[in-house]
Amino acid sequence: MIYLDHAATTPVPPEAAQAMLEALTKDFGNPSAQYAPGRQAKAIVDRGRAIIAGALGAKPEQIFFTSCGTEGDNWALRAALHQNRRVGKHIVTTAVEHSAVLQCVRQLEREGCSATYVKPDGEGRITARAVLSAVREDTALVSVMLVNNETGAVFPVEEIAAGLRDHPALLHTDAVQGFLKIPFTAKGLGADYITLSAHKVGGPKGIGALYAGGRAKNVLPLLFGGGQEGGLRPGTEATAQIAGFARAAELRLERREEIAARLAACRDYARERLGAIPDLRFVGPGDAPHILSVSLPGYPSQNIVSELDGKGIYISAGSACHRGKASHVLTAMGLDKRTAAGTVRVSFGPETSFEDVDALFEALLAHRNTRFPML
Ligand code: PLP
Repeated sequence: MIYLDHAATTPVPPEAAQAMLEALTKDFGNPSAQYAPGRQAKAIVDRGRAIIAGALGAKPEQIFFTSCGTEGDNWALRAALHQNRRVGKHIVTTAVEHSAVLQCVRQLEREGCSATYVKPDGEGRITARAVLSAVREDTALVSVMLVNNETGAVFPVEEIAAGLRDHPALLHTDAVQGFLKIPFTAKGLGADYITLSAHKVGGPKGIGALYAGGRAKNVLPLLFGGGQEGGLRPGTEATAQIAGFARAAELRLERREEIAARLAACRDYARERLGAIPDLRFVGPGDAPHILSVSLPGYPSQNIVSELDGKGIYISAGSACHRGKASHVLTAMGLDKRTAAGTVRVSFGPETSFEDVDALFEALLAHRNTRFPML
């Protein structure tokens, strides 16, 4: 199989799966228990927190495990608005955020907040100036993702943070697609809240983390219950998921530069090869090393995806999170309907080879040459 959808999710390497198995079978205690198996389980959580913190150059006490990236996004938005409730109820975000942010902001609007959605240019880029000029006196929160999951555009979070230095608005960034793909530290980015998800970097599904640092204070609990995660995100810790997340992150960290170079080489090679397909268009800037969006205008992406599926080549139609619906990202970029409907996303992982890209090229070319445009 040729798996080219690493932005949707990633395979768990055997080492991370082994760490999970051990947490489930050997170190199965409840981390809150006061005896040896409890202490062993707690050590898994502490170690995991230290590894994720280290990957961000943050302190362990600034990392809170969540059940997924979606949860981290929702929590961060609500926590920031709560902290800044005396500043106002205005939110600045972008029109191309993941639905975990966009749909949460929509809900917050229904609850009385107002929001400005900054639009990208035709390439999918967003400038710091556009974001900062949307900020008002009553803006309590700015939420801008680090890497767009459909176009691979990298947004200027650091510059936005610098522009907010003299404004009370808190800054959240959804770094789910940026974590361990592009180099950054929490401090360097300057965001107050940073969302991560394990399953985009070789960890299991169902675990993520939220960094709360910078100006984030008195973080609003997500749930109310026991004292886990500093009492802010109670519930018995998902030790196996944490073990898998931490081990996967560790493996990626050990080979960070090599993997980044490999991903970028695959993306550049794919650009070169796919660029030879007649009428093929590149969509978005493809800044991130692992994501490349391309369109065969007139050829419905669903058909491309299902034909490639039949050949054992797996790519996504726009974004796996918006199955069946016109992508809000491509719409916000102002792409014409034929181009938007023909857009597929290819995303690479550490295991991707040039041969995989060659197979993709052949399959896309065959599709282009044997099917009639339908749009
Ligand atoms: N944010 C971005 C940018 C994503 O790509 C995703 C996953 O597709 C998420 C958030 C949601 O993460 P999770 O699947 O862990 O809830």
